Amino acid sequence: MQNELRRLIDASRRIVFFTGAGISTESGIPDFRSPTGIWKTNKPIDFSDFIASAEARRETWRRKFATDPTIRAAKPNRGHRAVATLVRQGRARSVITQNIDGLHQQSGVAEDKVVELHGNTTYAACLDCSKRFEIDALKEPFERTGEAPVCDACLGHIKTATISFGQPMPQAAMRRAEAETLAADLFVVAGSSLVVYPAAAFPRLAKENGAKLVIVNNEATPLDRVADLVVNAAIGDVLGDVVGVN
Ligand code: NAD
Ligand code: ZN
Repeated sequence: MQNELRRLIDASRRIVFFTGAGISTESGIPDFRSPTGIWKTNKPIDFSDFIASAEARRETWRRKFATDPTIRAAKPNRGHRAVATLVRQGRARSVITQNIDGLHQQSGVAEDKVVELHGNTTYAACLDCSKRFEIDALKEPFERTGEAPVCDACLGHIKTATISFGQPMPQAAMRRAEAETLAADLFVVAGSSLVVYPAAAFPRLAKENGAKLVIVNNEATPLDRVADLVVNAAIGDVLGDVVGVN
């Protein structure tokens, strides 16, 4: 498996990575759908509920402040470093990620080579006027009042800069992800259950467009049967060994 992956990487010039929560579990950030994933304890809050319900907004912010220390403490792992190495070598052209933790950027992938399909949780923004807010500045008022923050410019709801279920996808990121997918000669999925759409449409598109498709994931995915290679093992070990990073 590992040898086959190395051969595919060596034979490719335009590798595009597609990453999900699974590449960050080795950094200590739980994923959604593993047996120990967040979903076993916290059902996701739909965007329409966030808009409609003050209690849903409070619960969203309670969860955010409860999980924030974990995200802040997380450091890139071998998987992130292997991806960053291939980008730095010019072998990989970009990383399309469903992750919101910023660890690809932290591992040294240039901002303009990371396409964030589901946004970023390290800051927040007003849903109406897009004004940016820093998480730290929102924490004390939330703890004092127990109320979800509203925008001081327009009274709109403030939400982390992430895309919830039911929320429109970021159009610029979607266009870039499509262009990168169509440019790929090798498309490597790392750590995604490939059940969240539209994100999961990109691996299929890459394959239909003639790229080789590799899936590195601990468990089976719905696209395993169309992939050229499926590796069911820990991402840090697999990519770290193949690329030769610690
Ligand atoms: P998912 O939780 O649905 O799937 C993760 C997959 O990775 C699982 O199939 C699991 O078996 C596999 N996996 C976990 N650790 C692994 C490892 N070390 N090696 C190999 N495989 C491993 O995640 P998803 O497909 O990204 O979809 C969930 C959504 O949740 C995404 O849209 C994302 O925005 C969000 N999310 C992000 C983070 C983050 O930013 N780190 C964390 C949780 C959820
Ligand atoms: Zn506003």
